[in-house]
Amino acid sequence: MMAMFHHCSMPLARAVLPSSRTRAIAAMSLATSSSPRKIPQSQVLLVPQAFRNELEEAGWKVGRSPIFNTVVAADGTVKLLLKLEDNRLIETVGIPVEDDKGSARLTACVSSQVGCPLRCSFCATGKGGFSRNLRSHEIVEQVLAIEDVFKRRVTNVVFMGMGEPMLNLKAVLEAHRCLNKHSI
Ligand code: SF4
Repeated sequence: MMAMFHHCSMPLARAVLPSSRTRAIAAMSLATSSSPRKIPQSQVLLVPQAFRNELEEAGWKVGRSPIFNTVVAADGTVKLLLKLEDNRLIETVGIPVEDDKGSARLTACVSSQVGCPLRCSFCATGKGGFSRNLRSHEIVEQVLAIEDVFKRRVTNVVFMGMGEPMLNLKAVLEAHRCLNKHSI
């Protein structure tokens, strides 16, 4: 998976496929979310109920932000609005592209902040003001939501949604590492 940043920011790294850990988290999250996607029993068993209970008792949240709205464009691009735990909405976009050699890419364009403090004059997000930085899991789950909708893995991630990623670098880098980690 390749990650790229907003505007003049540079690509961070070439990456490998999402990790088994990410998949395990996804399975755990999906098993408890309102998502209609069916998870095979074998994947759900990756995270035993007792361990999930332990996580919840230790203060970890188990679950995913639900999709609040979906808009599908004629070219197959899908824009999702995810509703966060504090009821704020963020945008994430899935862009499927097939090149002339038949290679299929799926790019996730993710948000890094709720709103944006930079207020560029041409930008609707900037005009809406700034609420808060996203946490790393809120960035990762945008990629997982795109994978749910398209039912395949995302191949590229660009941080060109809401917000300026360099202003939320710690969470952006954590999300980047999670998405690119190959093994636990
Ligand atoms: S998201 Fe922020 S940095 Fe990006 S164009 Fe809009 S206001 Fe500018």
